[in-house]
Amino acid sequence: MSRRGSLDLVVVGGGVVGATCALSLAALGLEVALVERRPPLPWRQAEPDLRVYAFAPDNAALLQRLGIWSAVSQARVQPYRGMQVWDAGGGGALRFDADRLGRSALGWIVEHGLLVDRLWAALPGAGVRVHCPAEVTALEREADSVRLRLDDGTRLEARWAVAADGATSAVRSLAGIEVDAYDYGQRGVVAYLSTERPHEDTAWQRFLPSGPLAVLPFVDGTSSIVWTLPEAEAARVLELDAAAFGHAVTQAFGARLGAMSLVSERAAFPLRRQLAQRYCEHGVLVMGDAAHVVHPLAGQGVNLGLRDVSALVDSVQAAQARRIDWGSRHRLARWARARRSHNAVAAHVFEGFNRVFSNERPLETLLRGPLLGWAGRVPPLANAFWRQASGL
Ligand SMILES: Cc1cc2nc3c(=O)[nH]c(=O)nc-3n(C[C@H](O)[C@H](O)[C@H](O)COP(=O)(O)OP(=O)(O)OC[C@H]3O[C@@H](n4cnc5c(N)ncnc54)[C@H](O)[C@@H]3O)c2cc1C
Repeated sequence: MSRRGSLDLVVVGGGVVGATCALSLAALGLEVALVERRPPLPWRQAEPDLRVYAFAPDNAALLQRLGIWSAVSQARVQPYRGMQVWDAGGGGALRFDADRLGRSALGWIVEHGLLVDRLWAALPGAGVRVHCPAEVTALEREADSVRLRLDDGTRLEARWAVAADGATSAVRSLAGIEVDAYDYGQRGVVAYLSTERPHEDTAWQRFLPSGPLAVLPFVDGTSSIVWTLPEAEAARVLELDAAAFGHAVTQAFGARLGAMSLVSERAAFPLRRQLAQRYCEHGVLVMGDAAHVVHPLAGQGVNLGLRDVSALVDSVQAAQARRIDWGSRHRLARWARARRSHNAVAAHVFEGFNRVFSNERPLETLLRGPLLGWAGRVPPLANAFWRQASGL
């Protein structure tokens, strides 16, 4: 389908979303190049990556179709078979169990660095032309193509450019696409801790007035935490010594798994909502964090980005099956509209949860615990929540 000398797509950004996009579209026979500014660090078994994802089953299936999920799961993933959400103020819990849903796992806890490592290992065999390290410095648009200039002097011409270069996307800016952004004034503190009692293969989330604390099961008796805190409080806990930090997490978690001890470095990342105003603009498609940054409380950031990829793959495949143009503007604008509305709804739902659960307003404090308990006792409602999160 590509014209002589030019590419079908240039994907900018080789994170999980960009690398998956490049591999998926190359697998459909398109000519694809990938531009990444920094060579990814090799994954090291002895040093677990602090950034982990609660990876949903539909996205594991996407990587399985690319032949990558086996390589990831053989290296190191931790299935979670239960998920439990409750409020520190009391009331019931919302609980999901793989057994009751007829599944072997609800999802998998996977390190970011491992995913990127295995995706990149597959790029050469898939025929993706990799330009790394390289950054896009200019973008010019013709009637039905786009030209990118890289900082190493390379010029690339393609039918479409894909901005998968993360929240501060340069390609999105070069394309003149604005974002609507809102800073939550919170940070997500991440670390690994060992726990006195086993994690029961369960992804736990306790809502506190200061923000949710997620404790995700990992290997060798450890758990990974994402602890949402107001900025000043996050700065304070990062300064605590290891013992005091472990004690603070144990208390925040209501000692649900007994005493917790820090076994890694700590890091924190700023939390915001950021939504691109358009996902498709004259030769440029926007996806992943370049298109949407959401609150991490539902663990959906990378999952939403990979669903952008899946929807694009479906659109291209459907066009190929009907022997019509996969890259027509009107076709890709349809992809963009569908993904933008889905992601905007998700971002606002997560934000709503964060607002209702992260405060000490008396009425909300009184209602939220019982609300979670009630949702947990209505199986169709609980199942609907889970289907939404799992992408199935
Ligand atoms: C600590 C932490 C914990 C998280 N936990 C979860 C979780 O549990 N579940 C979940 O789903 N999500 C989680 N997220 C969110 C998740 O990390 C992001 O949603 C996800 O990484 C987005 O992937 P991406 O490929 O779109 O962007 P990125 O991962 O940001 O990748 C962008 C890539 O583009 C490259 N790049 C940037 N600019 C340029 C340029 N100008 N030229 C070339 N290349 C460029 C970057 O080097 C990078 O490789 C977490 C995030 C953090 C920080």
